[in-house]
Amino acid sequence: MSICKKCGYKGNTKEKFNTALCSVCFHFAPDSEENFKKYTREKIPSEVLETFRKYSKEFENKKKDSMLKKASQGNLMSRAPFGYGIVEGRLVPAENFREIEEIFESFLNQNISLNQLAKKRNLSVNGLKKILKNFTYIGKIKFNNQIYDGGHPPIISSTLFNHVQNKLERLGIK
Ligand SMILES: [Zn+2]
Repeated sequence: MSICKKCGYKGNTKEKFNTALCSVCFHFAPDSEENFKKYTREKIPSEVLETFRKYSKEFENKKKDSMLKKASQGNLMSRAPFGYGIVEGRLVPAENFREIEEIFESFLNQNISLNQLAKKRNLSVNGLKKILKNFTYIGKIKFNNQIYDGGHPPIISSTLFNHVQNKLERLGIK
C-alpha cells in the first residue's frame, strides 16, 4: 500500500520512473521521462478520479484479455508446437497430431525411459520433456505462470495430460 504521487490516492500503486502511481494515473502517464515529470508535478485531487477507479476493474480485465490474445498470437508467431499447424493465424491439429497422444500414452503406460522414448520418436530428451509438459495439447495456454483457455482444439484429454504430469513429478523430472 502506498500513495499515488499525482492524485494522492492511497492503495495499490504501480511504479514508473521510480514514482508510485495509482492505476488510473499510471494508465495516462507519458513515456518520456521529461513529460512524465511534468505530468506528476501537475497534481489532481484523487476524488476527481473516483469515477474512473470505480470502473478500472473492468478496464484491467479488458487489458488482460488483450494481453492474453497477444500472448497466444505470440505463441503462434514463433512456431506451432509439434502436433499442430497454423491456419489463418489459428492453431489447428496437424496431420501428425495422433503422435502426441501416442507419446503421452507410451510415457505413461510403458516401462520406457525418457531417453529411450526420445530416441524412438527422433526427439531430444529436452524436446520430449517440453512436449510432455505443454499445456497447448489440452487447449490451454500458459501465460505469466497462469493457465488460460487458449481457444484452440485440444489434441489429448486432460486426464491423460494430468496422469503424465503426476508421473513426471513422481519421477522427479523437471
Ligand atoms: Zn493517482
